[in-house]
Amino acid sequence: MAGEDTFEIEFRSDVVVELIKSAASDADVLWAARVSTKGENSLAEIEADPERSKGLINYLMRDRHGTPFEHSTMTFYVKAPIFVFREAMRHRTFSFNEESGRYRKLDPVFYVPGPDRKLVQEGKPGKYHFVEGTPEQHKLVTEATQESYRQSYRAYLEMLEAGVAREVARTVLPVGLYSSMYVTGNARALMNFLSLRTKREDSTFPSFPQREIEMVAERMEEEWAALMPLTHAAFEANGRVCP
Ligand SMILES: Cc1cc2nc3c(=O)[nH]c(=O)nc-3n(C[C@H](O)[C@H](O)[C@H](O)COP(=O)(O)OP(=O)(O)OC[C@H]3O[C@@H](n4cnc5c(N)ncnc54)[C@H](O)[C@@H]3O)c2cc1C
Repeated sequence: MAGEDTFEIEFRSDVVVELIKSAASDADVLWAARVSTKGENSLAEIEADPERSKGLINYLMRDRHGTPFEHSTMTFYVKAPIFVFREAMRHRTFSFNEESGRYRKLDPVFYVPGPDRKLVQEGKPGKYHFVEGTPEQHKLVTEATQESYRQSYRAYLEMLEAGVAREVARTVLPVGLYSSMYVTGNARALMNFLSLRTKREDSTFPSFPQREIEMVAERMEEEWAALMPLTHAAFEANGRVCP
C-alpha cells in the first residue's frame, strides 16, 4: 500500500494495573487460621491481641502454612503487551478474562521500550543481568519496532477493509500489541506470582523475570501491600517465599 496511513497509532512504554475490587485483609488470614483452635469464635479473636496476630501471620508464612492466605480475593485490570500476557497466563492459580480479537477490532496501541529499559543481556541462562544500551541501540529499537508495528497494523486494516474476518486478519499483529484483561486471585496465588516475577537479590530464591512483567508485578504488589500490610511484611521478612 502506498501513501499516508489513515490510522493513528499509539506507542507507549508503560503498563496499566488497577485494583478493581477486593475482599482482602490480614484479618482474613487470622480468621482462617484460628478456626483450627477457636472454631466459630475465631472472628472475635482478630482484634483481641494485635501483636499475637502479627506473630501468627509470621509463623504461618515462615512454616509455609499456605491455605489461610487463600481466603482473600483481588481483581486487577491490566493493560500490557501480549508478550506480558503470555507470561502472566502461565500462573494457573489466577483467573483471567481478556479482551477479544474476534469480536472487536483491535486498537493500534503498541509497546516500545522506553529510554530506561536496559537493552543488552549479559550472563548465563537463568541468571542474566541487563546493562544499558548505547544511544544507537536505543534509536534502532525505537525505529525498528515502530516501523514494524505500522506495517503490521496497515496489513491488518487492509484485510479488514477487504472483508476478511477479524480473527483471520489479526494473524499479522505482533506480541507488542497491547491487550487488556481482568486478573483475579488470592494472596497466596499473588505471592507465588511475586516470588517469580520480581527480581530481588535478597530473596531466598532470586528470580530473573522479564522487566515488563515485573512492572505489572510491582504495581500489584503495591496494591496488595496496602490491603494486607502484615501479610506483606511477613512475606518480605521470610525471603519472599510463597507459603
Ligand atoms: C524467570 C522465569 C523464566 C521462565 N521461563 C520459562 C520458559 O522458558 N518456558 C516455559 O514454558 N515457562 C517458563 N516460565 C514459566 C514457569 O515455568 C511457570 O509456568 C510460571 O512461572 C508459573 O509458575 P507456577 O506453575 O508456580 O504458577 P501457578 O500455575 O500459579 O501455580 C502455583 C502453584 O500451584 C501448584 N500447581 C499448579 N498447577 C499444578 C499442577 N498441574 N501440578 C502440580 N502442582 C501445581 C504448584 O505448587 C505451583 O507452584 C518461566 C518463569 C519464570 C519466572
